[in-house]
Amino acid sequence: AAAGKGAVEIIKSVCTHCSVGCTVLAEVQNGVWIGQEPGWDSPFNLGAHCAKGASVREHAHGERRLKYPMKMVGGKWERVSWETAINEIGDKMLQIREKSGPDSVYWLGSAKHNNEQAYLVRKFAAYWGTNNVDHQARICHSTTVAGVANTWGYGAMTNSYNDMHNSKAIFIIGGNPAEAHPVSLLHVLKAKEQNNAPLIVCDPRFTRTAAHADEYVRFRPGTDVALIFGILWHIFENGWEDKEYIRQRVWGMDQIKAEVAKWNPEETERVTGVPGSQLKRVARLMVNNRPGTVVWCMGGTQHTNGNNNTRAYCILQLALGNMGKEGGGTNIFRGHDNVQGATDLGVLQNTLPGYYGLADGSWKHWARVWGEDYDWLAGRFADKKLMNADGIPVSRWFDGVLEAKENMDQPDNIRAMVFWGHAPNSQTRLKDMKAAMEKLDLLVVIDPYPTVSAVLHDRTDGVYLLPAATQFETYGSVTASNRSLQWRETVVKPLFESKPDHVIAFLLAKKFGFEDRLFRNIKVNGEEPLIEDLTREFNRGMWTIGYTGQSPERLRLHMANQATFDRTTLRANGGPADGEFYGLPWPCWGTAEMGHPGSAVLYNVDLPVAEGGMGFRARFGVERNGDNLLAEGSWPVGSEIEDGYPEFTMAMLKKLGWDSDLTDDERKAIEAAGGDKCNWKIDLSGGIQRVAIKHGCAPYGNAKARTVVWTFPDPIPAHREPLYTPRRDLVADYPTYDDRKFMRLPTLYKS
Ligand code: SF4
Repeated sequence: AAAGKGAVEIIKSVCTHCSVGCTVLAEVQNGVWIGQEPGWDSPFNLGAHCAKGASVREHAHGERRLKYPMKMVGGKWERVSWETAINEIGDKMLQIREKSGPDSVYWLGSAKHNNEQAYLVRKFAAYWGTNNVDHQARICHSTTVAGVANTWGYGAMTNSYNDMHNSKAIFIIGGNPAEAHPVSLLHVLKAKEQNNAPLIVCDPRFTRTAAHADEYVRFRPGTDVALIFGILWHIFENGWEDKEYIRQRVWGMDQIKAEVAKWNPEETERVTGVPGSQLKRVARLMVNNRPGTVVWCMGGTQHTNGNNNTRAYCILQLALGNMGKEGGGTNIFRGHDNVQGATDLGVLQNTLPGYYGLADGSWKHWARVWGEDYDWLAGRFADKKLMNADGIPVSRWFDGVLEAKENMDQPDNIRAMVFWGHAPNSQTRLKDMKAAMEKLDLLVVIDPYPTVSAVLHDRTDGVYLLPAATQFETYGSVTASNRSLQWRETVVKPLFESKPDHVIAFLLAKKFGFEDRLFRNIKVNGEEPLIEDLTREFNRGMWTIGYTGQSPERLRLHMANQATFDRTTLRANGGPADGEFYGLPWPCWGTAEMGHPGSAVLYNVDLPVAEGGMGFRARFGVERNGDNLLAEGSWPVGSEIEDGYPEFTMAMLKKLGWDSDLTDDERKAIEAAGGDKCNWKIDLSGGIQRVAIKHGCAPYGNAKARTVVWTFPDPIPAHREPLYTPRRDLVADYPTYDDRKFMRLPTLYKS
């Protein structure tokens, strides 16, 4: 530091521009953010930043920041105090609620919030009494979630950016990471360098990513399924599929084969424009270089048949036997920095945090976590049945203002709109949106910047702009595309008059009179709820996807101990377990004290069950099979699981609220016997509420094994239908498949 100017402090944060999750080293002097460097030891960015990431300081300090609360009066913006703004907005909302019910206010949250704030926005909407809450994920990867979750369970990236170093081939479709996720391309190029991995890029446009390709496939827009089936045609025709893998782990491939048989080279070329000879080359590259990974982004999802596209990509990987393997998997690149986290935390009109569907059991679960009286919570909704009905998706909120009632479960009478960190730049039907904005009684924009939401309309009154602090002016956890939670520290205090989003939530809750309830488990210092307590609260409730082991303390420790990641070298040197250098990717089971390392590769076929291997999920009865959260099918009844850790399981199940019929003596005996050498049998015939674990170890011995029954008090609700269903009328131009039949093909993963 220059003499007399104070020391320069380096504060670690995470880039807010995309989902790669690059570490930012912010240089702060006398409380002022003066410079930045990429995190040199970060496994996420390998010492690099892209141009977007390199400008986050300028972005945060930008001239366009909203500096103080404003309201529009007679077509002009007027500066107001926070107190005035909250009072006026609150009074107006309470009037609207009185007249039109709680569903008439729409809370549009954000993938730019950190996990704690995202969770709070969802919880806030519940306490207000509506499911009219959503965020950007609805517009970007909701088709991925539907397609992928219905194929193997979780709607998320299965591997990670770093894991692409292990890939023997990389297949990118509907993505241009060289521009959208620039640092991710470092990982891709590393695979090329290290493994001589061929890069195949399928895109109607020749992009900067395509410029790196060994094989560039230009295909007609919207014909992804035909293209993938065309590749599969060569694979099946030549018997190149991984037959043993399919036999062991995949259902329904025969039906796929029958469908694929229609996609001979001539037919595929007619639809996609790609010659059969090129697709044969692509098939061969993928077959000869296994495991390879498939990468996609919004070019694959933002279609009316996006579900089908994502489903087709999954099928390709299953046919090649690439799932559940390092270097394989489906690496689905998310958009915003925390779009994965905001989705996980339920800022959606059809789920609660942790993908709990809207049903009594879910609400009871969360009411218990929140320490809330379930009946009081239900009473906040206009009608109890609306508690379990989907809200209006963000892609159609304006229909709820303009007129349409068809296909909506909710009263569609939207009178007030809160854009809480959302700008509709990428949405369609902007004309309708503008008209709807002009018809609203109240429009509130909470954002660090005056976004499109603030200026799209021609209103002259009833608009408020509240300046939110950026993520560099607060702290908390953020989930990268690879499911890893990382921890951001505060770089500088909120600039100008801006306030962090969780503070704004507190102020609004106070105005509405439910702040004591909303923050019952959370310490509040003045008007600021403690972020760490919010993390701890969702840690207690998110066991469907293993958001339970990532405590603030653990996440801080991980952030402080990043090191350049190279799995092979680390392993050769006895380095820490997978996951330790990724942040903590979910599922990270159990409590923080249990030390689960997180799951770097989902459905890993090489790991023991207790370390995140295949079927680990089923131990807790949270397997998702098609539309149901049931274990049957993906974990055959009575199947034997090797390398179980009964004492770990017992402790975990107990912490999570399950009860067993084990006596104290039996429990002690099993623990003393060293459960990690045991095999057990799981009998899921009782469904999710009854998980019977047959402990085949001492003190019983195999001969004396008895079934221990674990029970959970509430039923877990069924997973709801995906929102987006393919629309034949919009893809009528080319002859493809029967959408409904396609969606129902039982291509599920089995252990
Ligand atoms: Fe930020 Fe993404 Fe660029 Fe990394 S790749 S620096 S996260 S914008």
